[in-house]
Formats: sequence, structure tokens, C-alpha cells
Amino acid sequence: MSLFQIPPPTRFDLRFSIVGIPVRVHPLFWLIAVLFGASSNSIPGLLIWVIAIFISILIHELGHALAMRRHGQGSQIILHFAGGLTIPESMAWGGGYASVAITANQQIFISLAGPFAGFLLATLLLVVSALLGGTIIPNFVLGIIPFPIVFLPIGELATTFVMSMLWVNIFWGIVNLMPVNPLDGGTVARNILIQYDPWNGVRTSLWLSVITGALIAIAGFVFLRSTYMAFLFGLLAFQSYQALQAGSGRG
Ligand SMILES: [Zn+2]
Repeated sequence: MSLFQIPPPTRFDLRFSIVGIPVRVHPLFWLIAVLFGASSNSIPGLLIWVIAIFISILIHELGHALAMRRHGQGSQIILHFAGGLTIPESMAWGGGYASVAITANQQIFISLAGPFAGFLLATLLLVVSALLGGTIIPNFVLGIIPFPIVFLPIGELATTFVMSMLWVNIFWGIVNLMPVNPLDGGTVARNILIQYDPWNGVRTSLWLSVITGALIAIAGFVFLRSTYMAFLFGLLAFQSYQALQAGSGRG
């Protein structure tokens, strides 16, 4: 799901396709990837970060795209300045709605497939690291989010790559599962709630989004000292609040 509108194509877009799914990378995607890696103290370290973010977001979106395909829905992946986005084919070609009717449970499956593709990738990386003779030390962020420390004997850059991949795929994968609109967890929560309460499910999911978003913004700032998380989740909570005020009740 996207925080913003679909960015229009530019002549600097990178286009390719993977397992039959078209991918478009907007030039601003690279800018945000570089900003995320800016704390690296070397050019190779920065490049490793950019590659790790590119692969991780692509695999996440591929999870969504393959889950859509399983339900007969073609799609297109767009990587842009606010992350990634998998849109149904009919929308990609200018139509306003999906060509295939997706049920609430199918939508839950599609939404979960993104973060779980990332968890699978992180698990594979840990297995490969172990096979390469790496040292894996169990570790938790805030005491609950698993973030194992890995040392690889094949070099510092390989270690940086694996650690970056684990961080993006595990930490952000879990954050993305929080019931906040328009994160994947928000879509899951909405599709669960509307099944129990078709009348007020969307409103309830928006209130859940406001409260959870605000709590994560505070927790991110206080415990992780992350201005970015505080800003992002503060903005998402505010957007959900605005949607409630508008009374549109649309997802
Ligand atoms: Zn997603």
C-alpha cells in the first residue's frame, strides 16, 4: 500500500520484469535509499545499503504480487520515494478498480505475503550465513524484536550486507505489520474488522490506526530515539484521524 499517489512515469525510470511481473523504479527511490544508508561511513558501505534496500523492498512487493497472481490478479510493482507499491494490473493501465473481485480473506493473504516474503528471505540469509561459517548471536531490539548479530568470515562488507538485510526485512517487516493505515498490518486489521462489523469495521480500524500510530510514534522517539519513526507514525495517525473526520469511511 502507498502513502502517496502513484508517481507518474519519468524518462529516468528503471524498468525490468521479474518472474513475469513488470517492475518500474522511479529515480527518487534511489535518493531515499541513499538517505537511509547515509549513516554508513564509506562509499562501499553506502552502496551495500542501497542494494540491500532495493532487494528487500523488491522481494516484499514480489510477495504481494505472487499472492495476487495466486488469486488470478495480474499486477505491476513500483518502487518510489516512499518505498514500494504493488498495484493491480487494471489500475496500472488507468482503470479505477481491480479486474478481479478479491475477498477480505484473500486481501489479508495478499497483505501478509509481503512481510512474510521478507521474513523468509531473512531466514534464508541466516541459514546461508551459518553455512558460510558465520557467527550468529541472538539479539532483540526493545527486548521483543528479533535482530540477530551476524559476523561473516568472508569480509566486512558481506557482514554489513547481511546485517542491513536482516534489519530491513525483520525490523521493518514487523513494523509494517502494525495495525496502522496504510501499512500492510492496517489493511489486515481493516479486512478482519469489516468481517465482524460490516457497518463500523472501517471506522474501528481507523481509530485503531490513530491510537496505534500515536503509540508507535511515541515509543519510536522515546525508546529508539528515532525522529523518523516519530514523524512517520505521527503523520499516519494524523491521516487516519483526518479520514475519520471526513467520515468517508473509505479504505
Ligand atoms: Zn507491503
